Amino acid sequence: MKSTVVGSFPVEESSPSSFKDKLLNSFGAYDPFKQAIKSSVTAQLDAGVDIISDGQVRGDMVSIFTKYIPGMKIEDGNTVIVSKIRNPIQEISIKDMQYAKKVMKEYYGGKIPEGKGIKGIITGPNTIVHSSRIESFYKNKEDAIIDLAHSLKFEVDAIAKKVKPVYIQVDEPFLSTGMVDMKTAREAIGIIKDGLEVPLAMHVCGILKDAFTDIAKFNVDILDFEFAGNNVNLDVLEKNASLISGKKLGFGCVDSAVNEVDDINDIDELVTKAIEIVGKDNLLLDPDCGLRRAPKDVAFEKLQLMNQIKDKYN
Ligand SMILES: [Zn+2]
Repeated sequence: MKSTVVGSFPVEESSPSSFKDKLLNSFGAYDPFKQAIKSSVTAQLDAGVDIISDGQVRGDMVSIFTKYIPGMKIEDGNTVIVSKIRNPIQEISIKDMQYAKKVMKEYYGGKIPEGKGIKGIITGPNTIVHSSRIESFYKNKEDAIIDLAHSLKFEVDAIAKKVKPVYIQVDEPFLSTGMVDMKTAREAIGIIKDGLEVPLAMHVCGILKDAFTDIAKFNVDILDFEFAGNNVNLDVLEKNASLISGKKLGFGCVDSAVNEVDDINDIDELVTKAIEIVGKDNLLLDPDCGLRRAPKDVAFEKLQLMNQIKDKYN
């Protein structure tokens, strides 16, 4: 049983302090988020996380992608679709992931141990289009989703090739809302999965009652859901576990919506139940969702407790 994170981590933006950083700053080349990536990676590793993220420190999960995608523009912080969606004008998140992997390698004295590594994360096409407004070109969201899936596939293949992550995760929180056409959603994720060299995971937070049977059919290797923040999903899993046999389960076992440290007995109880239902070897433990909104010490302690439970069963 391994542990991971869903993605985001509390951010510390830094101001330039060394001579080199001040010089870079004067050319507009100083990156205030680099330190945040480093401290996020270090905190995850100190807490015992096996498969880390780069911390997704650059902010909102939609515009970090859409600002590089032709056909989409950002107006007052919201994405508007204005013409045909095409491939990104540049790689979007590769440099951050490469930097995070470098920090991880240094942490382990030059070689990342077997069974540990970084994952690549992108926001899924369904979630991006449903959080955007279509102003022109597309008559419906579904056509925009398919074009965006092809566009994001470019980034996904580049992550697989250049970062060599343990796996890639697509974040699709909208799939639990009932607003998304599941047939289109499945086709879009299929486009991202097609020929991908590394396993693909899909993270869907929220209550799964109505969506689980559809989501179980998606062509992904890992499905990642929340189980700490609501008492519906565990029931749904128990009744439908056979639908996801052959897939691994990312099991959210600490509550990312509450800014206080979870009770270790609650985590233990959830994990015991998960082991009973899907078996230890099919489980990846993680928080319900990203931890960006938690205070940094709380986020750290949540991860630490989760890993204590992991160690107890390994
Ligand atoms: Zn989530």
